[in-house]
Amino acid sequence: MKIHPSHPRINPESQQRFASKVLALTGVLQTTLETSELISLFAKELSGFVRFDGTSYQFPELKIDISVGSLTNHSCQYQMLVSGEALGEIKLYRFYPFEEHELETIENLLSGLLYPLRNALLYHRAIQTALIDPLTGVKNRSTMDDAVLREMKLARRHGTSLSVVLLDIDHFKRVNDDYGHLYGDQALRAVAQCVQKTIRDSDLLFRYGGEEFMILLSGTGPEGSALLAERIRQEVESMTPFSNNDIRLTVSLGITSLRGEPDTTDLLLERADTALYRAKQGGRNRVEFA
Ligand code: GH3
Ligand code: MG
Ligand code: MG
Repeated sequence: MKIHPSHPRINPESQQRFASKVLALTGVLQTTLETSELISLFAKELSGFVRFDGTSYQFPELKIDISVGSLTNHSCQYQMLVSGEALGEIKLYRFYPFEEHELETIENLLSGLLYPLRNALLYHRAIQTALIDPLTGVKNRSTMDDAVLREMKLARRHGTSLSVVLLDIDHFKRVNDDYGHLYGDQALRAVAQCVQKTIRDSDLLFRYGGEEFMILLSGTGPEGSALLAERIRQEVESMTPFSNNDIRLTVSLGITSLRGEPDTTDLLLERADTALYRAKQGGRNRVEFA
């Protein structure tokens, strides 16, 4: 079922009642631009009209997948659209089936979600554009310094360890020179994906510069970070980034771990950089610890 604001399924006699409900709902929903908060708010408001156990909302293009409450066995689902623009799919779940009049209520109230949801998705996209490197899909440098400082303060406060890994692709200029920039770009994406799938969800990966990446490992000390860096080195070495030729890539990695005061974010990055330089000097495709 498609929901579109200009074609709501409303009984003429209840039109006015619903119009005011939708208006009130839209007012509430306009208090946030955060998608998950918006879906939670919508579910809360809707629960005043229809009984249900849980809601899920998905927008795969932006990797948004939100669930609230219990996803029980009966469901109704709606593809939401505004002027032909897809806004994702919302599903409501209940232990027993929804009745026709309840579906009507849901549809009417959903029309109040459309514009706030469109704004939230626009906001989400804008934030992503500002923070994510468009080529590799990993975080760009804009939030890196803040993240290092934040993790450093957290590590100090909780007495936990923190490590930084700098990774630089070896002889990357050759890839561009020999195969062209498009291959170079694809190779960069492949390395970023390889690193991303090797690290944990809680580890942070940034594109630091052209073919350099930084990995921030909270709760990880010298041993753990050295093991991980070595695993990344091996994973990159064994991958075949292109289906139509057998180019292999290697990376050099420099690691350092947070020390006691007066260690600073600048010193941390400087040490990792020095270790990376040593890895390059030592013949590349290797890991060095500061
Ligand atoms: P080394 O082993 O010493 O790191 O050698 P290298 O060739 O990797 O290092 P160098 O710094 O000389 O060259 C880095 C190259 O990375 C040069 C630049 O053209 C390429 N590069 C940087 N950013 C991008 C990008 O976004 N796309 C592509 N295709 N290439 C890039
Ligand atoms: Mg470099
Ligand atoms: Mg390089």
